[in-house]
Amino acid sequence: MRIIDIINESKNPVFSFEILPPLKGNSVYKVYDIIDKLKVFDPKFVNITSHHSEYIYKPLPDGTHRRVSVVKRPGTVAIAAAIQNRYGLIPVPHILCKGFSKEETEYALLDLNFLGINNLLVLRGDVKGVETPIPGARYNEYAGDLQEQVNLFNKGIGLDDMKIEGISTPFSYGMACYPEKHEEAPNMDSDIHYMKKKVENGADYFITQMFFDNEKYFSFVERCRREGITVPILPGLKPVTRKTHLNMLPKTFRIDIPEELASRIRECKSDTEVKQAGIEWGIRQAKELLDGGAPGIHFYTMSASDSVLEIAKKVF
Ligand code: FAD
Repeated sequence: MRIIDIINESKNPVFSFEILPPLKGNSVYKVYDIIDKLKVFDPKFVNITSHHSEYIYKPLPDGTHRRVSVVKRPGTVAIAAAIQNRYGLIPVPHILCKGFSKEETEYALLDLNFLGINNLLVLRGDVKGVETPIPGARYNEYAGDLQEQVNLFNKGIGLDDMKIEGISTPFSYGMACYPEKHEEAPNMDSDIHYMKKKVENGADYFITQMFFDNEKYFSFVERCRREGITVPILPGLKPVTRKTHLNMLPKTFRIDIPEELASRIRECKSDTEVKQAGIEWGIRQAKELLDGGAPGIHFYTMSASDSVLEIAKKVF
């Protein structure tokens, strides 16, 4: 089933969450632990993040270093298949431009199609630490370019106009948006311009970057509606769990933490207290968002699945 149909047809707000594939060497049970914890709230879909490989410098016996490319987390296709088979839940693997050649993307799409996984989140991907392109390989630059590759695939057209047979169900997909503006966008108008293009070219819905100030979400949605973007905009929430989040989240995601929450975190004497403050803030935020008409809440569970559980108990 398409995520957009689930959102549109659901009588209740949609509960969904994102998981980060565990670091290589861990088992898939790390993923199952999170799903086992949260499945009672009837998640309508589960997103799986994707991560490009990174270069590291490996020390050699002669004192020099060799640059090697390392994949730190297993791929989304395998995890999506595991989730679908074990739980019957709808997996939404993320696919990226950065760090993945167009050829690799085509293989991933073929595998997903083969597995009957038809929902995606289409993204550019994190640029930090991304390895330089392999000579001769072709890459998508922006999420819109990757979207075009998916759209062609859906029509049975592969790279170099090769015909692709056996597409049972075309991919449906959502894309990302930023209530506080994407860090590289010169201004919000520019960001919204590209959002409009994404919708014109087939994006069914958006999931937002995490945010802690609901006013930013509401005014962003209002602005999108004024600009003619009518697709659902699902708010993404991440509960704070550590004192270090106070500076790390704004730095990493270019978002603000409202002073009311910031001062609450500053007063906490331990991360246990911060976690509790994050749960309370998350409950308040989620309730207000749903009261204000948000179609559901999408939770970022990374190092916060226990907090998501506590928030969901009060909200869903
Ligand atoms: P784009 O839509 O390509 O936009 C990037 C920037 O370029 C924006 O400033 C935009 O305004 C501008 N732009 C867009 N199109 C054009 C164009 N044609 N010409 C010029 N400028 C353009 N990262 C990961 O690595 N893995 C993940 O799994 C992952 N999951 C995410 C999930 C969500 C819900 C969100 C919100 C983000 C996620 N990210 C993930 C981070 C995301 O990949 C980064 O924020 C990235 O920098 C931008 O991705 P995008 O898809 O919004 O890019």
